Amino acid sequence: MQVQESSKRLPDRAFDVVIAGAGTAGVVAAVAAARQGATVALIEAKGYPGGLVVEGGTALHSFYNLWKAFPGVAKRQVVKGIPQEIVDRLTERDATSGHAEMLKGYNYDSVCTAVDTELYKLVAFEMLDAAGVNVMVNTLLTGAVTDGSRIEGVVVESRSGRETLAGKAFVDCTGYGDLAARAGADFTEPNDYAVANSIGVGGVSLEKYHEFLDAHDAVTEYSEGRRSGRDGRIVRLHGRVSLLPAAFADGARAIGMATVTTTVHDDYFMFIKLNYKMPVSPTDRDAAAAAELELRRRQAKAVELFRRHVPGCEGAFIARTSPSLCIRRGRCITCDYDITLDDVLTARHFDDDVMAYGFHDSAPRFQVAGGGTYGVPYRALLVAGLDNLLAAGMLITTDHDAHMSTRNTVCCMGQGQAAGTAAALCAAANSTTRDLPYPRLRKTLEADGVVLEN
Ligand SMILES: Cc1cc2nc3c(=O)[nH]c(=O)nc-3n(C[C@H](O)[C@H](O)[C@H](O)COP(=O)(O)OP(=O)(O)OC[C@H]3O[C@@H](n4cnc5c(N)ncnc54)[C@H](O)[C@@H]3O)c2cc1C
Repeated sequence: MQVQESSKRLPDRAFDVVIAGAGTAGVVAAVAAARQGATVALIEAKGYPGGLVVEGGTALHSFYNLWKAFPGVAKRQVVKGIPQEIVDRLTERDATSGHAEMLKGYNYDSVCTAVDTELYKLVAFEMLDAAGVNVMVNTLLTGAVTDGSRIEGVVVESRSGRETLAGKAFVDCTGYGDLAARAGADFTEPNDYAVANSIGVGGVSLEKYHEFLDAHDAVTEYSEGRRSGRDGRIVRLHGRVSLLPAAFADGARAIGMATVTTTVHDDYFMFIKLNYKMPVSPTDRDAAAAAELELRRRQAKAVELFRRHVPGCEGAFIARTSPSLCIRRGRCITCDYDITLDDVLTARHFDDDVMAYGFHDSAPRFQVAGGGTYGVPYRALLVAGLDNLLAAGMLITTDHDAHMSTRNTVCCMGQGQAAGTAAALCAAANSTTRDLPYPRLRKTLEADGVVLEN
């Protein structure tokens, strides 16, 4: 069967800034852009903002430097600005553990900020609304309209039909790099991580799970913070699977289950991670469909494992799943600069830094030198070959080991603030992303609470 689509004029609307993806980076980008006075369209395929913050790890890592791993280094908060404001709003709703120090794990150097997955969606939505962002949820970005190296607009589909949204500056925060790819940017698909569909598990006891791990001397990560309205309670736990009874450990390994969880509620594991390594990139629809099914089978088996083997979890049940599989990387978009592992480990800063970050997910194997920070340069957010497209989130950074730092939630949020601010400034000045004067961007970011350490 061959179908020829009839050409017709699509309804169109015009904005200063168009941002694709209302996830970890996109929410922050849109708030930042709108607060600069830009008219902003934020396109999100799901019915709510939040992205992987509410579907992946459900904890934000890490607002701080790695002070504990380096004697004499002071504890300092290196990511503030809008990401911190989100935590403040969550705190007002008693919807976060707060910045809970890792008392065990990550070589004692990380802060885990667990967030209530449902209230995060609401808080993000309200912040976008208050900033005046046109939030287009249940809307899929399907195409880009380009003129040479410039994007003129994007094509979106919703139940209102197909529309075009014209813009002056664009930001790709889709994780998958859908906008950049549709606009003709260069990319790779490394397929270097497992995909996941993590679940919230109800009917469990954090304290009993801790006792179970402790009885086998298996606790590898532990932190205390605010939970169900009370401070000083367990909010993160992780156990070494190899030390646990074989019946549980073998079952966990077979389904790619990690024994880590975070929570902000009693009797609730806010996330239990089920991993699955796809044979091809998660952009392959049919392979992704097979992964969706396999992950749901694994979810059911995971709950069964807890019921059978972990005291206090006899009544475990699945309380939350992600509407679709969660990726750690889809497309890797080619940008003007590619952050390297050496940049991260040597605490390198650049003359166009837009944020500082100090955490690496593989600590203590990889740590930023001296407990310091590295800089994310503006040029790392500029999509190569396009004049008015920025990228923020997991879709930048080729090197897997460098990506294990830049893909972390709080780094993605910081990139979002930088990209959204830059897009708004470009739109106001009718300039390309590369012509935007860096001092102007830096001054604006600093005025909005961004910490720059160079
Ligand atoms: C299972 C798992 C556990 C993790 N655990 C942690 C952790 O504990 N700590 C940590 O710091 N990091 C963790 N990470 C990594 C981190 O969560 C992500 O790297 C980061 O959140 C990515 O942010 P993002 O903005 O790039 O993407 P996302 O947050 O995924 O946002 C992308 C958004 O774009 C939307 N979208 C995509 N395509 C389109 C389209 N075509 N049209 C419209 N909308 C679209 C999506 O629906 C989504 O809302 C984890 C990741 C996974 C998968």
